[in-house]
Amino acid sequence: MNTIALDLDDTLVDTIATLLDWIEEARGYRVDEARLATYQLGADEKQTAEIVDAFYDAAAHHKINAITGAAEGCRTLKEAGFNLVVVTARKLEAAPVTNALVDRLFPGVFADVHSVGHHPDKVKALRAAGAKLLIDDNARQIRRAADAGIPTILFGSLPWNRDVAWPRRARDWVDLVAMSGAF
Ligand SMILES: [Mg+2]
Repeated sequence: MNTIALDLDDTLVDTIATLLDWIEEARGYRVDEARLATYQLGADEKQTAEIVDAFYDAAAHHKINAITGAAEGCRTLKEAGFNLVVVTARKLEAAPVTNALVDRLFPGVFADVHSVGHHPDKVKALRAAGAKLLIDDNARQIRRAADAGIPTILFGSLPWNRDVAWPRRARDWVDLVAMSGAF
C-alpha cells in the first residue's frame, strides 16, 4: 500500500485565515500580503516563531477548518487504497493540540501524525513512514524532499508559494486528488 504524506497547516486545514484573525485580535495588526509572501508574521523570524508557538496554545485553534475539498479528497484517496499520514513541522510539544485538530476535522483518516518541529527536516520522517509522495504548501520542504528523491506536489496558491516554479503543482483539492491517482 502506497503511503502519501500530507502537510497539515494550509494543506489540509486553513490555518492562515484563523492565524491572521488571531494576530489582529491579540496584537492589533493585520499581516499584509507582502509580508505573507515571506511568512513574516512578526517583526523578525524570532517573533514569527513566538507568534506561531503561542497560536498552538490558543483557544482560537478550534476555529480552524478543513480546506475546501480536503476531507472528501482524503476519503477518496483512502478508498483508492492509499495509506495517509500527516507530517507537520509543528513542534512535538504541540502534539496534543495538533492531534486533536486532526481528529476533529479528519476522524479516522490518518494512520499517523508526525510532528517534526521547527526548521525541521521532514525527510527523516518521510523515510520512516515510507512515504511515496509529499504534499505540502511549503516550497522549502518540497525542495528538501525532492532532493532526497521523494516525489512531491506543491499545494495551493498562497502568498508564499504562488510564484514558485515547480513541476507538479495542485491549486486545490480537486487538482490534488486527480494528480495523486498517478502514484
Ligand atoms: Mg503548511
